[in-house]
Amino acid sequence: MNIRIVDRVLDRLWGFRCILCGGPGRGQDLCAACARDLPWLDSACVGCGLPRLAKAVGNRCPGCLATPPPFAVCLVALRYEYPVDRLITALKYRQQLTYARVLGELLADFAARKMCAIGITPPDVIVPVPLNRRRVADRGFNQAAEIGRFVAAALNVKQDARACERVRDTPPQTGLTAEQRRRNLRGAFAVRPSLKGRRVALLDDVITTGTTVHAITAALRRAGAMEVQVWSVARSLL
Ligand SMILES: [Zn+2]
Ligand SMILES: [Zn+2]
Repeated sequence: MNIRIVDRVLDRLWGFRCILCGGPGRGQDLCAACARDLPWLDSACVGCGLPRLAKAVGNRCPGCLATPPPFAVCLVALRYEYPVDRLITALKYRQQLTYARVLGELLADFAARKMCAIGITPPDVIVPVPLNRRRVADRGFNQAAEIGRFVAAALNVKQDARACERVRDTPPQTGLTAEQRRRNLRGAFAVRPSLKGRRVALLDDVITTGTTVHAITAALRRAGAMEVQVWSVARSLL
């Protein structure tokens, strides 16, 4: 049968169009060609999520081998650049919640592939990075938790969006030095005892400097989490 007719029929049945090119999505919000063309971070260091040099050996960069990060792995699917930046911004500021599903499914696929490739045990629970309470009140939702819902559903892992909360609203981190950023976040997070002995995937939409995930990992470990993995849709490389 003519493939274009098949596409049209499937489209009508499913009603999915690709959110990037507008073409037939075949049951997905993103077509296969657009998904393939995204700025994937397939060969990034699994310790910090940054791209490794071409000459690197193994899956961790020299920096992570010398000073291992506090988390077991840092799995980051994509570079924070076009069109990933547009999708995340549209989710955050224009409340395009369909994009949470797209980003969540991309991250779930990536994390499943990586965990299998490097031989790590899947987490027991997904914990989204909490937002400042004032920002949740303004926006009405936490984008990391929205993305996390779809990651959790795709991988059949529970998400606990209340396990870690911001107990102190902190000023924005932009423009601060590394030491100021660390100080800014001191005592900002509280973790529930329910995470004791659990393997946790701490989930964020974008990692910039990594100060936030370092601070929350420390709080999770203090609360007795057995292991912390960091999962993020994107990493800003600026
Ligand atoms: Zn497309
Ligand atoms: Zn590294």
